[in-house]
Amino acid sequence: MKIELKSIYKKYGKQEVLKHVSMEFDTGIYGLLGKNGAGKTTLIGILLGIVKANSGEVLMDGKSVRLCQNEFLDKIGYLPQYPKFYKEMRIDEFLMYMASLKGISKKDSKEKVDWLLHEVNLWDGKKKKIGDLSGGMRQRLGIAQAMLNEPELLILDEPTAGLDPQERIRFRNLISKFAKNRTIILVTHIVSDVEYIANQVIIMDDGDIVCQGNIEQLEDSIKGKVWEVVRKNSDTMDDLDFGKVSNLKREGENTRIRIVSDRQPVVDASKVRAGLEDVFLYHCRGDME
Ligand code: ADP
Repeated sequence: MKIELKSIYKKYGKQEVLKHVSMEFDTGIYGLLGKNGAGKTTLIGILLGIVKANSGEVLMDGKSVRLCQNEFLDKIGYLPQYPKFYKEMRIDEFLMYMASLKGISKKDSKEKVDWLLHEVNLWDGKKKKIGDLSGGMRQRLGIAQAMLNEPELLILDEPTAGLDPQERIRFRNLISKFAKNRTIILVTHIVSDVEYIANQVIIMDDGDIVCQGNIEQLEDSIKGKVWEVVRKNSDTMDDLDFGKVSNLKREGENTRIRIVSDRQPVVDASKVRAGLEDVFLYHCRGDME
């Protein structure tokens, strides 16, 4: 399935939230990356038909989704940023309930729920109440419910919020597993969420796309603009024309400073290889959060 967003324009009052944004999604994992307020959730809302754009179009395989809304929604799985769970329900009960809401027959539901419980590694805990689950388990349950209709397009909004590092790794592996023959859109403001698994990354800032491509292309786009300089911890750093500081790392008596800048920030700064975090910093306005 190919999804196209064509020149999506959205205003809230006088604020332009999306400034004629166009993008395409094919099979693979896409990272939709941007700081809070960039317009990502609004864009996804428009894609899903929850939010109405002022102008622009969403196409599925070349056809406007307005003409085939139900067919389109049948092919989508969505995990919102703040999913609603029923805390008193047990895991398996909840999935059966969600399957019935999605119009899946009882017989198919049982098979699918069992399959997904294994896939997301919740089989052993399937009788647990949702209110008793850890953040990671709840997130995996969220992904399982989004996968019930075996969607061609799976959209996950800020999926790693509140997960610890180990759960994040587990989450990434799960997403990679589900990516076969499917489009996955990971909406996030966390670079490391997409760095290792996305085939394509789209960076948004202030309602616009500021760059897109695969990780290598993005890193190449700021080649020669990432610098490192080492200073004694006790030094003042007044001589540095900072650009944007991407990282500060203490190394014993010294601090290694990583700077993203069009020009050499100081004579002893040396060029280093760009990473996705640097790309994000370079293209987005203001400092990193
Ligand atoms: P992101 O998902 O990248 O954090 P959002 O799409 O949530 O960005 O928000 C983009 C901008 O639109 C923000 O400035 C936000 O305050 C504004 N916004 C989002 N939803 C509404 C709304 N319902 N009413 C008014 N402004 C909104």
